[in-house]
Amino acid sequence: MSEPGKANQGNRSLGPACPHCLAPAEIRTSRAISRTVREYYHHCTDPECGHTFVSHWSVVRTLSPSNAPHPAVHLPISPRRAPIRRQPAPANDNAARPTNDNPPSVFA
Ligand SMILES: [Zn+2]
Repeated sequence: MSEPGKANQGNRSLGPACPHCLAPAEIRTSRAISRTVREYYHHCTDPECGHTFVSHWSVVRTLSPSNAPHPAVHLPISPRRAPIRRQPAPANDNAARPTNDNPPSVFA
């Protein structure tokens, strides 16, 4: 990663779709705003559209902590995935219920 504030004008690559015509948009250049935010300058590849725009890429949270953390980077830890909850068995309210669940007594 380049340092914040430095522009990257290396190989051009495709980024997100153009928000107007949905054609692929080329990344013209980018620069780091911080260690977790980068700004990209895009140009739509559809010559009839020609839209140019700026987007931001950002790191939003940590899934697994770094073994070499930087003191300036503060990211929230991703909450654990909620456990998969099994659906309760459907109630079988339509079946006839025995009035007495006790086994028949042989001594009755
Ligand atoms: Zn476009």
